[in-house]
Amino acid sequence: MERSGQGSLCAKCSGYLCYPKIPLGQELPSLEKAPGYCPMRRHPEILAGAAGEYARPEVREFARLASVQEGRCYELTTEGLRTIFSRIEETMQFAKRCGYARLGLAFCTGLREEAGMLSSIFENNGFEVVSVNCKVGRIDKEAIGLQAAEKITPPLIEPICNPIAQAEIINAEQVDLAVLLGLCVGHDTLFFRYCRVPCTVLAVKDRLLGHNPLAALYLSKSPYYSRLNMAGSEAPAGKKIRL
Ligand code: SF4
Repeated sequence: MERSGQGSLCAKCSGYLCYPKIPLGQELPSLEKAPGYCPMRRHPEILAGAAGEYARPEVREFARLASVQEGRCYELTTEGLRTIFSRIEETMQFAKRCGYARLGLAFCTGLREEAGMLSSIFENNGFEVVSVNCKVGRIDKEAIGLQAAEKITPPLIEPICNPIAQAEIINAEQVDLAVLLGLCVGHDTLFFRYCRVPCTVLAVKDRLLGHNPLAALYLSKSPYYSRLNMAGSEAPAGKKIRL
């Protein structure tokens, strides 16, 4: 089977072959028509393995409920499909469908107010809520090797964001579902690495754009954010770290 050397490149493709808009029961288009970079051509064994995972009853049920929830977020009207739920509503509905009563909120200290509001909303909707601030543990940044000049507000004590502790506390508190609110890039990566309960992301951190990173993407073809497409970065290249 033909394979591109570059890897799977779904983002370069129209997606017609994996999502053909044809009636159920009609023969699927041949994968021979798929581009060489299509993962359906490059990784048939992985796809077969993933399909097998859905045979595990708990995985199958979780996946089924996620797709049920996805479907409930649309309404078919005479004008076409309409979206009807915000992500907060979607998160609560999905948690209820899964029988989850105890939610763990891992939040950024910069979103303390939002965390309080969200916690109340969850509680008003019948959930128990455990919440953990990213600064938990009070480990100063210099303890993990930062220079004073690399801190945001030297010479004050400046605790690291501590996603490992956030994740482990949420694991220990035996929540049913962890919900991330505004963790930074990299801190969220560590959280995912250490969290052992199902987790979902309510919002990501974007300090500049009201926690809506896609705003820059939508403006990237206009002069306002065309710099995103230009080579170059503020940060020096480092050695690859394997977690
Ligand atoms: S799975 Fe294949 S057909 Fe679908 S988007 Fe990726 S490359 Fe395109």
